Amino acid sequence: MTLTNRNAMRKSDLREANQRLLLNIIRQHPVSRADIVRITGFSASSVTFVVNRMIKQGLLSESRSAGPAQVGRRPLLLRLQPGSLLAAGVEIARSEARVAIADVNGVILKQRTVPWHPDHHIFLVRVRETIRGLVATLASGRLLGVGVSLAGTIDRTAGHVVAAENLGWLDVDAGSILSHGSAEPFYFENDAKSRALAERWFCPPGAKQLDNFVFVALRPGLGTGVISDGRLLHGAFGAASEFGHTSLYPDGRRCVCGGIGCWEEYAAQRSLERLYCEKRRAAHQPQSDPAGTDVDEIIRLARNGSPLALDVLREIATYLGMGFLNLNAAFDPEAIVVGDYLASAWDLMKDWVWETMRARTAQQHLSHLRIIPSIHGNDSALKGALALVLSDFFTEYAPPAAKSTPRKTAHSRRSH
Ligand SMILES: [Zn+2]
Repeated sequence: MTLTNRNAMRKSDLREANQRLLLNIIRQHPVSRADIVRITGFSASSVTFVVNRMIKQGLLSESRSAGPAQVGRRPLLLRLQPGSLLAAGVEIARSEARVAIADVNGVILKQRTVPWHPDHHIFLVRVRETIRGLVATLASGRLLGVGVSLAGTIDRTAGHVVAAENLGWLDVDAGSILSHGSAEPFYFENDAKSRALAERWFCPPGAKQLDNFVFVALRPGLGTGVISDGRLLHGAFGAASEFGHTSLYPDGRRCVCGGIGCWEEYAAQRSLERLYCEKRRAAHQPQSDPAGTDVDEIIRLARNGSPLALDVLREIATYLGMGFLNLNAAFDPEAIVVGDYLASAWDLMKDWVWETMRARTAQQHLSHLRIIPSIHGNDSALKGALALVLSDFFTEYAPPAAKSTPRKTAHSRRSH
């Protein structure tokens, strides 16, 4: 490559980066050209050049604001055309895989499910064909990439699943099977981490975007994803924030990870369901379902005043509170965002969780902390997969020191 070519590359890379930065500013709320000049410090001529090009490409529209004019005419505002840039998301779980195409706001435009198959190769080929089938139906829009979220130890770049105990997968080359023959970039991530990203990326309009928080996934194991200073924490080898496998009790239960007394064995969904069965047996109450009672039923029973179900939720709340104190001590987060059964039953369990925490630490350590149920419900992991693609494409406006380093091959370790 000649020096001239290299310089040309740099110039086009810079232009692309500026375009993505402008797109991200406009994505968050409509702005005028003058606003962009003020926010970015770019020259008016540079902004005009990039904005005109994006309007020509169909990425932006420009129209007058709807509200009453303050002084003179209402300003011309730039808006992102939501369907112009698309992302595909794949959530892989033991029951099925969900595949979706969404716009830049995370609005799901098309969705399919792929039933689980015990042969991972057959299953993943079916997922791949489903992705292709959905992409083929797109009449317009540019597909930015495909995000894949699963509960397991996964190489973020190649998509190699080192271990996903919940799926029964060990050493599975999911990335190469899924991306075989595709031109689009693929992104892979552990589910708790991708769900943390979804909370930040798909922030409700008007709400403050969280820069320092921990997402706690509780189904079926306990995983945590940490956003620190606006960035997902991976650690040196991608295995950061495995708080589900930190020890609560020295002589506690044996965990699926091989450890003893892990937090996951006390507070995850399967732990809650197991505790309910144990307490019911101890109380000599008949069990109608030989497979056990699932968490939705336990929450329903608790809402109906079942002393046994309430007793179980109260005990689990204690374990949750203990773990949350550890998260608070480790990360000093502004919030802990909770998913799965705890989001569903937060109104029932929150007082017990806070009671545990207040009894075990000084109030000043908790004065700034909030615990918030996730707003994404069952779509959390799917939104996480979409956020992997979108957050990589759009460039966040931040001081140079806070900008992300280039992607490296790394293992994102399992949670469940
Ligand atoms: Zn463990």
